[in-house]
Amino acid sequence: MNPPAIAIDGPAASGKSTVAKLVASQFGYTFINTGAMYRAIAWYLHRHGIAPTEVEKIKELLPDIPLEFGKEGSSSTVLFAGKVLTAELTEPAVNETVSIVAAVPEVRSFLLRKQREYNRSEAVVMEGRDIGSVVFPDTPFKYFVTASPEVRAARRAAQGLTDSISERDKNDASRSCAPLTQAPDALLVDTSDLTIEQVVRLIARDIESKLSH
Ligand code: C5P
Repeated sequence: MNPPAIAIDGPAASGKSTVAKLVASQFGYTFINTGAMYRAIAWYLHRHGIAPTEVEKIKELLPDIPLEFGKEGSSSTVLFAGKVLTAELTEPAVNETVSIVAAVPEVRSFLLRKQREYNRSEAVVMEGRDIGSVVFPDTPFKYFVTASPEVRAARRAAQGLTDSISERDKNDASRSCAPLTQAPDALLVDTSDLTIEQVVRLIARDIESKLSH
């Protein structure tokens, strides 16, 4: 049996990364940001002049894509040429193309394997769009973190990032392969009127009660 996997899904700028990191640190689990994995592929394709719609080229390239999905300290990382990708992953070109790249089924199955590998030997808090529905459908720990569109847009603007989140959400929720969705057994957490501490406490309590059963 694998160690525990905590699934945290939700739309863009819902606060799920912040919450997932804090929950991971509270339980001593590894934080895995799957959005960064999709972003790294979008970044690499853009850098090589490959459009997100050139599906045949993307499929051909995937097995040899020189990105390493690793871990530094207690968080996942993506490395390119020995360097951890950070600012590259939120470039406007990446924000614009990532949800198109993420709709390619082969990209999803390629990353799905890597995401599950993280949980072979260690407990994880994994955040994304399809973690509770596709990556770990059998985990009892599923949380769907959301906030009103206004609150989410304000949060992104406060980060100083150019990101059309409603466009990405539309793409993510309407794709046929592993769309953004609340798994039927996920706990819905609307963070619009809650502090980060309140959200973390709510999720941590639920995890603790399930761990003790
Ligand atoms: O979480 P973040 O906003 O960084 O994710 C960037 C994009 O990656 C999403 O808009 C979505 O298109 C894609 N993604 C996904 N499935 C995941 C995580 C992210 O399709 N599990």
